[in-house]
This record gives sequence, C-alpha cells and structure tokens, in this order.
Amino acid sequence: MRVLASTKRFCRALLDVLFPRTCVTCGRLLSLSSSSDHICDTCLSNMSWISLQGIRDLFERYRREAADRGQRVFFNGGMTCWEHSGVARKLILTLKYGGGSFLIGDIISAIKKNGRHALDFVKNSLLVPVPTHYFKRVQRDYSQTELIADSLAKCSGVCVAKKLLRCKNHAAQAGLSPNERLRNVKNIFRCSESKIDRTSRIVIVDDVITTGATLLSCCEAMHRRGFRDINVLTLSHG
Ligand SMILES: [Zn+2]
Repeated sequence: MRVLASTKRFCRALLDVLFPRTCVTCGRLLSLSSSSDHICDTCLSNMSWISLQGIRDLFERYRREAADRGQRVFFNGGMTCWEHSGVARKLILTLKYGGGSFLIGDIISAIKKNGRHALDFVKNSLLVPVPTHYFKRVQRDYSQTELIADSLAKCSGVCVAKKLLRCKNHAAQAGLSPNERLRNVKNIFRCSESKIDRTSRIVIVDDVITTGATLLSCCEAMHRRGFRDINVLTLSHG
C-alpha cells in the first residue's frame, strides 16, 4: 500500500512538472502539496461555509416567507453548504455553465472536510435531483444536479431516483423578482409514476437556493405524488 501511495505521489509530481495545474477560480499555479485537483488551498479556505444554526435559521426564514405569501410549504428540513459568493459562486457557475463537471470530485472532498452535516443529512434518504431541461442537458452534456446527487449518493451509500420531470423550459430565474420567480416555475415539475415507497425520506438536490421558488415547486410535485417526508439540499445559498 505504501509503495502504491508513493508511486501515485511521484506520478502526480511528474505530471505537475510536465502539465502545471492552475486553480479554476483564481488562475494561480497549484502547488505540489495542494489538497485539491483544481482549486488552490487559498480559494478553498475563502469559501463561506454556513453553520448548522445559520442553516436552521435560513430554512425557517424560507418557511416564514412562504407562509406570508399564503403558500403551503411541503418540505420538512433543509440543508445547504456555503454562501453563494466569491470563490463558491465561481465554482458553481463553472460547474453549471462552464463545462466544469470535473470539479465535482473537489467539491465532494471539500464537503467531507468542512460540511459533513450535509453528508449526515442525506443518510437513509432517496436523492431526487432537480431536473435540467432536455435542451440544456444536451447543450451542457450533463446535468449538474444529477452530478451532485450521484456524487453525494456514492459517498453516503444512498440511492438516487431521477423521478422529477420538467414539463417546460421556463425562462431563467436569474434577474427575476421573487414573485416573478414563483410564477415562472409554478406547476412546471411533475413526479413520474414509480413503485417507490411513499414513506421514503426524500431529499431534493439542487445547486443553488436563492428565493427557494424552484425547490418549493419541486416539493409540491413530490407531495402531489403522495410523498410526505420531503427535504431539500443545495450546495450554495444566495
Ligand atoms: Zn485559487
């Protein structure tokens, strides 16, 4: 085992000399001792991880705001990892729009190190990724939400059920007011028929939560199909 680890380290060092790696967020050269493949240690340390109390307060606020709008909330619990700003925002944008599927390994490693409560949150659950519309999926060649759900499932020993369907390709949520966002995604999701036990603990997975409109709409679709223990998880908030 020790020989194998030494060989791996040597090969990595050799590759770093021949093909120097740079950080995807700041562009600096990654050091040989860097703990991540694509993100430098400085950028990783600049990510704003949200405390457990901060996460509880955040989802309580979503619940209160929905109630104030007269909207029913169908999720029991919520989890997120970091604030959607600076390095973290760049990571998500690269993952989502910049062909950055290669970042998922580093993201999961960072969660294992700084956000283990996210891994605890998905235990004994069925992960359901927010669906990407067919055309966007073809354009990107992958779905970032499926990638996140698959990777979390792999390191937590749980399963993924791709049961949510997006019925139409709505306008992008970015730039819309909270009310416009709600109208934009209202009733655009549906949960496909399946033999999944309706008492299963469901965790709907998305990359970012901003106003919560998309996730609330997904929760409603799962509730219509008979699920009652519905929860949400995102990497980023803001
Ligand atoms: Zn960096």
